[in-house]
Amino acid sequence: MSGPSSDCLFCRVVAGEIAPDVVRETDRTLAFRDISPQAPTHVLVVPRDHHPTIGALTAADPGLAAELLAAAQAVAEQEGLATAGSPEPGWRLVVNSGPDGGQTVHHVHLHVLGGRGLTWPPG
Ligand code: C5P
Repeated sequence: MSGPSSDCLFCRVVAGEIAPDVVRETDRTLAFRDISPQAPTHVLVVPRDHHPTIGALTAADPGLAAELLAAAQAVAEQEGLATAGSPEPGWRLVVNSGPDGGQTVHHVHLHVLGGRGLTWPPG
C-alpha cells in the first residue's frame, strides 16, 4: 500500500494537515522533530508514501527503503551527530516494527536519536 491513508497520522503530516517541525525533505521523504523527544536530537524520517512497516516498505519499494536510510544519515550529519565517513560523536537509528517492537504509528518511520550518551539495551 502506498497511497495516502486518511486515518494515518503521518499521512496527514505529509499532506500538510498537521504542521511538523521539518528538518529535511526530499521528493520522497520527510524528516521532522518528534513531538515527544527522547534525546536532544530526536527526528523522525518517513516516506511520503504510506507503508505500514519497514518490512512492507522493503518488500514494496526497496529503493525507497534505501532512500530513507540515506535521509537518516543526512539528518544525523545535519544535526552534528556524525560527519560523512565518521561516526563521531555518535547517534542511533531505531525502527520499531509491530506490537512487540513498540510501534505506535503505523506509517513506517526511522527515529534518529543523539545528542547525549545513549544506553543499551533498550527497554
Ligand atoms: O516507533 P513509534 O511508532 O512508537 O513512534 C511514534 C513516534 O511518533 C513517537 O516517538 C511519538 O512521540 C511520535 N509522534 C510525533 N507526532 C505526533 C504523534 C506521535 O512525533 N503527532
